[in-house]
Amino acid sequence: MTEHWGFDTRAIHAGQEPDPATGAVNVPVHLSTTFKQDGVGGLRGGYEYSRSANPTRTALQEALAALEQGTSGLAFASGLAAEDTLLRTVCEPGSHIVLGGDAYGGTFRLISRVLARWGVEHTPADLNDRDAVRAAMRPSTRVIWCETPTNPLLNIADIAALAQVAHDAGARLVVDNTFASPYLQQPLTLGADVVVHSTTKYLGGHSDVVGGALVTADAELAEQLAYNQNAMGAGAGPFDSWLVLRGIKTLGVRMDRHQANAARIAEFLLGRPDVAAVLYPGLPDHPGHEIAARQMSGFGGMLSFRLTGGEEAALRVCERARLFTLAESLGGVESLIEHPGRMTHASAAGSPLEVPADLVRLSVGIEDIDDLLADLEQALA
Ligand SMILES: *Cc1c(COP(=O)(O)O)cnc(C)c1O
Repeated sequence: MTEHWGFDTRAIHAGQEPDPATGAVNVPVHLSTTFKQDGVGGLRGGYEYSRSANPTRTALQEALAALEQGTSGLAFASGLAAEDTLLRTVCEPGSHIVLGGDAYGGTFRLISRVLARWGVEHTPADLNDRDAVRAAMRPSTRVIWCETPTNPLLNIADIAALAQVAHDAGARLVVDNTFASPYLQQPLTLGADVVVHSTTKYLGGHSDVVGGALVTADAELAEQLAYNQNAMGAGAGPFDSWLVLRGIKTLGVRMDRHQANAARIAEFLLGRPDVAAVLYPGLPDHPGHEIAARQMSGFGGMLSFRLTGGEEAALRVCERARLFTLAESLGGVESLIEHPGRMTHASAAGSPLEVPADLVRLSVGIEDIDDLLADLEQALA
């Protein structure tokens, strides 16, 4: 039934039928570690122990799969827990990963510091340069890791083209879809093998829960991932799962407002002499605009800009903003401002993934646009 529903209907109903026992309209938070067996091994509904499976987590997982048009969703304690489980499922010591040149700092740290000690190698590549990606591939390459739009430079990668490169080499394309959210982009429909989310961001949407997700339409891989979700123990807890489910219900209406506000702010910044560049894929002269217009149904709520006054000016704007809260993270209803070089991407300093020092990143919230513009105006003045 759910596959015929529109996105917002799936967000509200997929995996979320009223509780058969009570009629409760919302999925209950099943705070139980263990489940009564009707005779030894006689499980009701397959539940046994909550690390292995919990009904609230199951509801979230079904919703995630429906939103990404996959067949299996898995929910984790954080985005990085999801990434770690995925990479230790599809890689082994000696495996190689090709990742985008400006991947999320935590992803880069996981691969370059943690998985490297486990014998996994990696090569950063410009994902917009297909020849460079092909040249980076080795016989041992298991994964091309793609973020689009990227964090914090808002670069766009062509998902369908990268899927082709990955599949030609017998590797998988993984897309971190955190910035777009499934409302704006569904990578599995473009050929990606696995979608990764930090549900901490737009899916949760209210800056009150840390979580992660994997979605795939590959049944064999899904089985291996589910095995490791239990074996490695990084699955999402029931209350966190419930918070993400609650956030998902309003994803569509929130994203519409996030991106309407972001487009207005991009326009405002473009007209200012103290702003050297505005990085937003919705702008017609953004190098990834055409690809974004083709593979996304909107351009999202994230935007970065560079200041003519360099790092000092960037730090000053971050500190002078009042309605935009100076904080890491993104994707919540409230607007945030940050300095990637000193904050979210500090761990990439000195590496090929280092970001410009004059860069400011905005997570544009859903407040009234006039108030957001007035705050930026006074912070830049
Ligand atoms: C936040 C984030 C992650 C990591 O997720 P956590 O929930 O913080 O572990 C991964 N990728 C992107 C693009 C992110 O923004």
